[in-house]
Amino acid sequence: MNNAIKSFFREHMSVGAPFLGASDDYAQATKVIFGAPMDWTVSFRPGSRFGPGSVRDVSEGLEEYSPYQDKELLSVPFFDAGNLLLPFGNVNRSLELIKEFTTMVVRDGKIPIMLGGEHLVAWPAIEAVLAANPDLVLIHLDAHTDLRDDYLGQQFSHASVIRRLFDTDSAIRVYQFGIRSGERDEWAFARERTKLFPFEVYEPLKSILPEIQGSPVYLTLDIDVVDPAFAPGTGTPEPGGITSSELIKSILLLKDVNLVGADIVEVAPEYDLSRRTPFLAAKILRELLLF
Ligand code: MN
Ligand code: MN
Repeated sequence: MNNAIKSFFREHMSVGAPFLGASDDYAQATKVIFGAPMDWTVSFRPGSRFGPGSVRDVSEGLEEYSPYQDKELLSVPFFDAGNLLLPFGNVNRSLELIKEFTTMVVRDGKIPIMLGGEHLVAWPAIEAVLAANPDLVLIHLDAHTDLRDDYLGQQFSHASVIRRLFDTDSAIRVYQFGIRSGERDEWAFARERTKLFPFEVYEPLKSILPEIQGSPVYLTLDIDVVDPAFAPGTGTPEPGGITSSELIKSILLLKDVNLVGADIVEVAPEYDLSRRTPFLAAKILRELLLF
């Protein structure tokens, strides 16, 4: 491990029990998990700051073997860096720390996989990955467009995370799936600036695979794309979503793309006594680690 990341760790990370099967060797790891436990800008129910811990907790209940991919976690070198220590309520500083850490992971030639936290945490992570991959494709799974220009006057909000990517004239290509909520303006913006596939995920995602082949791809997965029946532990549940098996099937479509970064956000475990939401996130994470 280089000195820069070592000292960053000492100062800005809190390390608890790691995700199932994680290696403790950063240098050998090809993928790095980290948590961004921030929920400072949520518009409805807070609690996603507890997302990363809950996903690690329930991972003990998963098998290391995936029958979907016929592979097991012990065969892939991945590192769990723990959670970023983010200053409560300080949105700017929190976003800076996420960007700084993601940049270091990318510079070390590793794939960052972040656990949120509210969706806004994806913005600095995507920006960091985009800086190294100017032709980035973003795959965005969500119930919401997240294209508001602002929320109650605040430009940096979990409802604006995708919109902020259009503030600079980058060449990022944004594909949105499963969307079923948003203001009229957001939908109009989406029709003009993103490739929007409302309501469905699997079929449209499958249909665009040929056009993203070879391009660097970042996956941002807002767990509320899934129906609240399957994932009630989230801040802004939106009925009418896909099932958990549709999500797993859809994620597996990405196993042969050039995945350069990913996140799973908006898991808020306190609204889900059964813990089925973090369980679903943990299972998705296992599959991503096995790609
Ligand atoms: Mn979102
Ligand atoms: Mn959402």
